[in-house]
Amino acid sequence: MRAVAFERPGSVAIVDRPEPELLASDDAVVRIEAAGICGSDLHIYRGRVPTQPGFTLGHEYVGTVVAAGDAVSRVRVGDRVLGTFMAVCGACGACRRGEFSLCGGIRLFGLGPLGGCLQGTQAELALVPHANLTLRRVPPGLPDATALLAGDVMATGYHAVLAAGLVAGETCAVVGAGAVGLCAVMCAHLAGAAAVFAIDSVEPRLEIARSLGAVAVHHGEHDCRRAVGAHTSGRGADVAIEAVGSPDALRTACRVVRKGGTVSIVGVHAEPAAVAMDDVFIRGLRIVAGLANVVAHVDRVLALMAAGRLQAGPLAADEVPLAQAPEAYARFDRRETAKILLRP
Ligand SMILES: [Zn+2]
Ligand SMILES: [Zn+2]
Repeated sequence: MRAVAFERPGSVAIVDRPEPELLASDDAVVRIEAAGICGSDLHIYRGRVPTQPGFTLGHEYVGTVVAAGDAVSRVRVGDRVLGTFMAVCGACGACRRGEFSLCGGIRLFGLGPLGGCLQGTQAELALVPHANLTLRRVPPGLPDATALLAGDVMATGYHAVLAAGLVAGETCAVVGAGAVGLCAVMCAHLAGAAAVFAIDSVEPRLEIARSLGAVAVHHGEHDCRRAVGAHTSGRGADVAIEAVGSPDALRTACRVVRKGGTVSIVGVHAEPAAVAMDDVFIRGLRIVAGLANVVAHVDRVLALMAAGRLQAGPLAADEVPLAQAPEAYARFDRRETAKILLRP
């Protein structure tokens, strides 16, 4: 089967590899019908997150179950499914507390050794461990481009807002208007935010954020703290969501949040980032960080999507054949599009 593999920083290749086979009784094999290219794939593509050459990339996927072990009871062969970007054991202490993203046996699709060497989903077929927890049936009528967001970026935006403890009537600043940031804008509105600010330096992304009802703040052209302050009686936002994963974005999030406010970090940090701890201390900021608990959130996110209350439209994906993945990665790397779907 064909798969998209990491070659070296700045390059992916289409490779031929053996078809996956069931290894455990709760595994499933999914024939992939659509696989997303995600911002976190770019961390690997750019060499920030080290991966073995030849490793299959990707962790956003929709497809059909073509094989399932005896212990798989929640989905069946023939079901159209989507999956979460992580596979978790369901049995350890963290899983039993519902804190699946802290699972002792967590594996992440398409990340290489750091993710537990679980091959990715930008391929014709993918092996899915712990299928009862990892996979969900796609609600009838939900298109691929919408459904595959539920297992990753939309659930991450949802998590960022939930983890921040945003209360209806509060204000929320989202740093980074990529896919996760735009999902966070939608989720903050849904949670009752009185105002949502989207901070980015890429104008087309800010334009999408505006279309979602956010106040756009051009990082670089504006003093972000002053711009958010102008709409919050000088206080700053009650909540700041960091959806980039860079030291600069983290500093911005800490600067635009009010005294006693919460900074919720869902951007993937791959290296140390300094924060002005004196400022965090004096201003009494609360900082929460970590991988989104997507296994816990995915059913609620799907329900919101099926009800039309969360929509993928603003993230309208370009669709290209899997064979064009090398060019698609290059285009995504140049930020020419918010989302790309590969069709095997
Ligand atoms: Zn992702
Ligand atoms: Zn576990």
